[in-house]
Amino acid sequence: NRSSQILGTLNSTSPASRTFCSSTTPITATMFPGDGIGPEIAESVKQVFTTAGVPINWEEHYVSTEIDPRTQSFLTWESLESVRRNKVGLKGPMATPIGKGHRSLNLTLRKELNLYANVRPCYSLPGYKTRYDDVNLITIRENTEGEYSGLEHQVVRGVVESLKIITRQASLRVAEYAFHYAKTHGRERVSAIHKANIMQKTDGLFLKCCREVAEKYPEITYEEVVIDNCCMMLVKNPALFDVLVMPNLYGDIISDLCAGLVGGLGLTPSCNIGEDGVALAEAVHGSAPDIAGKNLANPTALLLSGVMMLRHLKLNEQAEQIHSAIINTIAEGKYRTADLGGTSTTTEFTKAICDHL
Ligand code: NAD
Repeated sequence: NRSSQILGTLNSTSPASRTFCSSTTPITATMFPGDGIGPEIAESVKQVFTTAGVPINWEEHYVSTEIDPRTQSFLTWESLESVRRNKVGLKGPMATPIGKGHRSLNLTLRKELNLYANVRPCYSLPGYKTRYDDVNLITIRENTEGEYSGLEHQVVRGVVESLKIITRQASLRVAEYAFHYAKTHGRERVSAIHKANIMQKTDGLFLKCCREVAEKYPEITYEEVVIDNCCMMLVKNPALFDVLVMPNLYGDIISDLCAGLVGGLGLTPSCNIGEDGVALAEAVHGSAPDIAGKNLANPTALLLSGVMMLRHLKLNEQAEQIHSAIINTIAEGKYRTADLGGTSTTTEFTKAICDHL
């Protein structure tokens, strides 16, 4: 069905992936409520999961107010250990603190947990009208390097330099994940998104690796699309795309563009995949400080991320049940949050989903 095709299993291609059984034995998962709207939408997930009878015990970890020297960030060592131990978790958005002396929380998580691929499904929600009704694509973002390597410095006064790192190892790893994902999810095409005409060395290496992997998957159509052209094509006709794989920064930007095609950031989920079999699901959006604490946030993106997590755990029945309740609530139109043109609070919308379970 649509949900399992789109939000389907996410197991890493690595043999180290933990195998979960479909059972009612409680599973322990890590929960980062996060910052801004994070705690409000995390509460929504907990309520919906409890109402659906999902057998999960959450280990909750908040971002600290002090830097933990072991992580050099506001993320505690204990919270990272929790994800390493449980191998599965759900993460609310984390604000990037401005200042010096610490690493970005999201970068710390990705680096420390080796979360190398970020899978971002984007599809039209039945019953929620946007300009398109046939969006059904997956963005797979390289998650560990590119412009996000954190290598920035001032060369001389008035001149700064930021290094973009692309390695063969990380490019092959994410390309392999994208092709494997396409093959195991009935997808037909993988598009590598790049700017290799200008960034010949970095994006050139990324493309070379994608081509190498493509040869191993003759059943999947492979194409290369320059990022500016990709943006134009996505806005004109998103049905042209199926699975897109790209370096880090492009994935960050393109997935927000994709969110805009289907109704906005309140709707799009994602899951970070690690080499050690770790899966950490999170919404694509950030901490939305403009609406934090006002009971206005749309919890759909985090809920759908939770559905991705459940599929990873092979709790397919509960995943399908929750997915249908979300879709039906939005389609019915009586309860919608403000970002979707409605007047419901987060709490009212969450209750409506629970009533649809
Ligand atoms: P944002 O995604 O937080 O917000 C962009 C716009 O979308 C805002 O108008 C916001 O109100 C709206 N929005 C986002 N999520 C929504 C939801 N669930 N329901 C309704 N409206 C929603 O982006 P930003 O303002 O650029 O970033 C805010 C902070 O979040 C920054 O510190 C940034 O670094 C951080 N951030 C974190 C993550 C993450 O944790 N993965 C991702 C992106 C940004």
